[in-house]
Amino acid sequence: MFSKKLGVTALGFIIAAGMTGCGNTENNDISAAENADSKSFSIVCTIFPEYDWVREILGGRAENADITYLLDKGIDLHSFQPTADDIMKISSCDMFVYVGGESDEWVEDTLSDASNKDMMVINLMDILGDAAKVEEFKEGMQEEDEEDDGGTEETEYDEHIWLSLKNAEILCTEIEKNIAAIDPENSDEYKSNLETYISQLNELDGDFRELIDSSSVKTLIFGDRFPFRYFVDDYGLDYYAAFVGCSAETEASFETIAFLADKIKELDCDTVFTLENSDKSIADTVIRTSGKYVKIAELNSIQSVSKSDIDNGATYLSLMRRNYDVLKDIMK
Ligand SMILES: [Zn+2]
Repeated sequence: MFSKKLGVTALGFIIAAGMTGCGNTENNDISAAENADSKSFSIVCTIFPEYDWVREILGGRAENADITYLLDKGIDLHSFQPTADDIMKISSCDMFVYVGGESDEWVEDTLSDASNKDMMVINLMDILGDAAKVEEFKEGMQEEDEEDDGGTEETEYDEHIWLSLKNAEILCTEIEKNIAAIDPENSDEYKSNLETYISQLNELDGDFRELIDSSSVKTLIFGDRFPFRYFVDDYGLDYYAAFVGCSAETEASFETIAFLADKIKELDCDTVFTLENSDKSIADTVIRTSGKYVKIAELNSIQSVSKSDIDNGATYLSLMRRNYDVLKDIMK
């Protein structure tokens, strides 16, 4: 089951075994040197964290690469479908990074049709291996309207792996390895950018740990989907939520609402969480049902970052740091 869901594409294996240093023609004349100054290789990423990690690792050399972020319209990961233009870009790129979870079912066909057979392919869930977690259906959650596929339920892995700073370190390390293989001449620089970045990830991770360890709040209530499983597990937090992380449901039953409202009373919570772009209607209903004075706070799951957010300076670390600030207000 695991290997079916998270299996490396045959392509991925071939590439890992036989790296050919795409985009690096041995040529010492001036025009080649000029060429190296223009876009020397191309990288396509599905979600924002991948894109931002690639930028961090390339550092000052990001200008030399053509880096594409596919979900830059701000559309949620779960509703994304590639355009013909996206598929063309993937087909000829030097390196393709994707999550490999249930939102990426379109990827396999796209890769099998790719024209660049030497492409480096990074499936992040494969990189995590056994650290990838099965999607948890927690007490109180709204059942999903499963499409009837005629019987056996397939085990779904939780794809929201980027919300753990520990995972980010593992994934960035793998991305760096692949970039260094494409552009070995500058590998020392990439290695040093990676080390700097990992120390920033570790610093924020330490801040979260300190905050959460010293707080009496040990359970988060989400009036929303819950993609933060890897995050809460990192810090020993518990949670209750209306829906699983990938759920397409928008309506919660009375049972789910009443369950969450009871949890608020039982745990004496003063905050209900929602994700970015939530209309907050479920959180509102839960709060009303609880009859308590409870505020709503938003945690960003970093799966719908738009081009304009990027132009305004959004980074993976800045968004995770904002989540820290939100929690800091609550976890006194
Ligand atoms: Zn999902």
